[in-house]
Amino acid sequence: MKPDAIQRRALKTWYPPGHELHLDPLHPVLAIAGEAGEIADQWKKHQYKPGVEYTREQFLDELGDLLYYLSIRAYQLDVTLDELSQMNRRKLAGGVHGWPEADSGAYDD
Ligand SMILES: [Mg+2]
Repeated sequence: MKPDAIQRRALKTWYPPGHELHLDPLHPVLAIAGEAGEIADQWKKHQYKPGVEYTREQFLDELGDLLYYLSIRAYQLDVTLDELSQMNRRKLAGGVHGWPEADSGAYDD
């Protein structure tokens, strides 16, 4: 599997190949949980903390952090983000979650 463009950029700041932590799942898995928590905390503050208001760009910045770690974990599992997206699309189209209309093409290009 050749890493996709997002993964190649993320890997430039990841542990280099050969490093003992390059394929260790713990760091990205914990980081995914941490970034998800940051997203929740950001929204909590935005909604409930007086005087705190985040911008769309700040919300997107946190989503980008999550994407970074997702791309690393997907790489470790030998799949590109595009392949992962296709897998998820097939899962949704299969009606696994009771959404058989997911492959209706409503949001296709
Ligand atoms: Mg973050």
